[in-house]
Amino acid sequence: MTASNGRGDVLEARAPRFTASDAARIAEEVFGEEVVEVAPLESERDQNFRIRGARGERVLKLSNAAEDPAVVDFEIAALRHVARWDPALPVPRVCTTPRGEASPCVVATDGLRHAARLLTFLPGRPFSEVGRDDALHRDLGASLARLGRALRGFFHPAAGRVLLWDLRHATRLRSRTEAIREPALRALVAERLERFESSVLPSLQDLRAQVIHNDVSRHNTLVDEGGRVAGILDFGDAIHAPLVLDLAVTAAEVLLGAPEPVDAVRELVAAYHECEPLRAEELRVLPDLVATRLAVGLAISAWRVREHPGNAAYIAGDDAQLGETLSGFASFEGDLRSALPRVAGAPRASGVGGSAKDVATSLLARRARHLGAALELFYAQPLHLVRGRGVWLHDADGRAYLDAYNNVPHVGHGHPAVVEAIARQAATLNTNTRYLTDTVVEYAERLAAILPGRLEVCLFVCSGSEANDLAWRIARLHGGGRGAVVVEGAYHGTTEATHALSPWEREGDIADHVRALPTPDVYRGAFRRDEPRLGARLAAAADEAVASLAEAGLAPAAFFVDPTLSSSGIHVAPEGWLAGVFERIRAAGGLCVADEVQSGFGRMGGPFWGFEMHGVVPDIVTLGKPIGNGYPLAAVVTTPEIAASLAEEGEFFSTFGGNPVACAAGLAVLEVIEREGLVEQARRVGTLLREGLESLAGDHAWIGDVRGAGLFLGVELVRDRVSQQPATHETRRVLEGMRERGVLVGSEGPHRNVVKIRPPLVFEASHAARLLEALDGTLRSL
Ligand code: PMP
Repeated sequence: MTASNGRGDVLEARAPRFTASDAARIAEEVFGEEVVEVAPLESERDQNFRIRGARGERVLKLSNAAEDPAVVDFEIAALRHVARWDPALPVPRVCTTPRGEASPCVVATDGLRHAARLLTFLPGRPFSEVGRDDALHRDLGASLARLGRALRGFFHPAAGRVLLWDLRHATRLRSRTEAIREPALRALVAERLERFESSVLPSLQDLRAQVIHNDVSRHNTLVDEGGRVAGILDFGDAIHAPLVLDLAVTAAEVLLGAPEPVDAVRELVAAYHECEPLRAEELRVLPDLVATRLAVGLAISAWRVREHPGNAAYIAGDDAQLGETLSGFASFEGDLRSALPRVAGAPRASGVGGSAKDVATSLLARRARHLGAALELFYAQPLHLVRGRGVWLHDADGRAYLDAYNNVPHVGHGHPAVVEAIARQAATLNTNTRYLTDTVVEYAERLAAILPGRLEVCLFVCSGSEANDLAWRIARLHGGGRGAVVVEGAYHGTTEATHALSPWEREGDIADHVRALPTPDVYRGAFRRDEPRLGARLAAAADEAVASLAEAGLAPAAFFVDPTLSSSGIHVAPEGWLAGVFERIRAAGGLCVADEVQSGFGRMGGPFWGFEMHGVVPDIVTLGKPIGNGYPLAAVVTTPEIAASLAEEGEFFSTFGGNPVACAAGLAVLEVIEREGLVEQARRVGTLLREGLESLAGDHAWIGDVRGAGLFLGVELVRDRVSQQPATHETRRVLEGMRERGVLVGSEGPHRNVVKIRPPLVFEASHAARLLEALDGTLRSL
């Protein structure tokens, strides 16, 4: 079952032609056995004999002349390793010649040289011939797990060879699917290979790998009278590969002819997991791998039957069952997907079994009951997500969605470097900042180094709201003022203090100590985009805000601004606006706070921080959301002088803020941004996307304006370009339509009519094209 090696192809070369008396002679003369009886055994490419001798029963294996000696050596070494590490596992033992050789060469009458091996014979009946039950499936699962453990520390150079039976190479079989005669089956096999390529292959490289048997099949498993596994044979397909492939192969075999397929696989996997705990990602890919193995079996067999019609009966012996099982796979696939995580003790998706839709419905009811009605939930049919990777989110049905909305997974969902950093630090030390620890100091130094001016003191907390809350407290302590200035439609957090700073949340009910500047909206504002010194003119509104506070007996403690004006509708303020506002606020004794929770860490594709687009340096910067790629972390960064005002009041301490694990996540995010060139990618892909959106505006009158920078773009939808009437209702439909097309976006702005595009920075040009296609289709269908 191998691909070619330098000596010709073992699938092509004919099997050796030794007679029974040749075999007896080899066993006696070469291996020193006293032979009583010899009987031929079936083999496809080699020749095997069962030998009864004075010291017990043996199997004499005479390899195909084309077999690579390194592969023979690999098999022998693997068997010996297993026997050493788990002596109770029933695998054949390797017998040697009196001189200690395990695979001496023997020459056939045709002059060809063959490696000869003598292995102990294991009694038992093949799994394929016995009645099976849950106990046998469990025993098989446990035996397979033990085999994997026994092989864990083993390696051999031949383990890296290329085998067609290595599921990682499944897509190479695409061209060979033509040999499958029945069209429906051919299509099914092709579809499984497609799905394997898109949903499984990308994650295989991250899974733990080692030498695996790779063919613990029904034919290679022996069962004793008591219904227990008595032998695991034939290491001829062993390779170095992801461990879970071993389980996939055996699970596919167990399915063949199983009356209760889900039960059979569940028992197998549960017993495996008890002995060798499976990781969540391994369990996730397992159902697809099982289906892929069935498809691979059919493709290889059809191709080989075409090449060797004379041997068709032997080669295609399992085809009927393979075809039947693959055809029926979809009917139990959903149950299999929900059953597998449970065997590993993953939280049950629902109190009931059933389809993914039932599970989602039940989850929705439980959520409403225990998380309350105030908690926001997207989409008419809420998305039940189970996994994220890169720019993709997967739902419970296994459908992948392109995530063009979430900025928290800044460097991509589940980025391995961040996951690894979190796991490593969590396993090493996690404690609070009242002790001396390296990570928090190193991280603060890194942040200070990439922030301008004297922004060098970092106070760590856990959320953007907390950071703004603390910034507000510091600003009040520093300047003594009690008033605040913000921008219309701004959002700065969920605490009492930051809620007051968030007109977006209050629908016009502005707190007494807060004044909101008009949004510098060059699309809707009653001014020309090209008006000279527009920014400076609009900034004068800050004077009015300060005067209005003064009328109420208040001085501004701080001006808070999100440099992308995201919740105000994603705007690019005219040049000079922010600098003008900063100047006026400072003149009135207030501090200027840049809330970088949305715009920081390179999202804007050029400047690393949003405020840099405006040519200003704030007094305080607050960071959150993308900072830890999803690990709760946030920061207030300010100058030593301003930080001193907090220290004068007393001590500062946040239990979880800046803990070593959070800082390890933060450090990993900065490293990934740099290593993967993500700021440049945000600029490049953002520009492409923006151009694409502008060109869509040529086809769709719904699009009133396209704006933003880098990978933070807004598309304002209007009912009519002249009246600019907001297309609020239609925007909701656009979000639903995009979701139906597999793309997640959001909405923003006071009228919720700005489509918000804010993907992880690992978004590529191909993803941008996909988004544009979906938006085009969605707008067409409005
Ligand atoms: N500031 C801005 C600009 C935000 O967008 C948000 C969150 N949407 C926050 C602060 C609050 O952050 P968190 O939800 O982490 O408290």
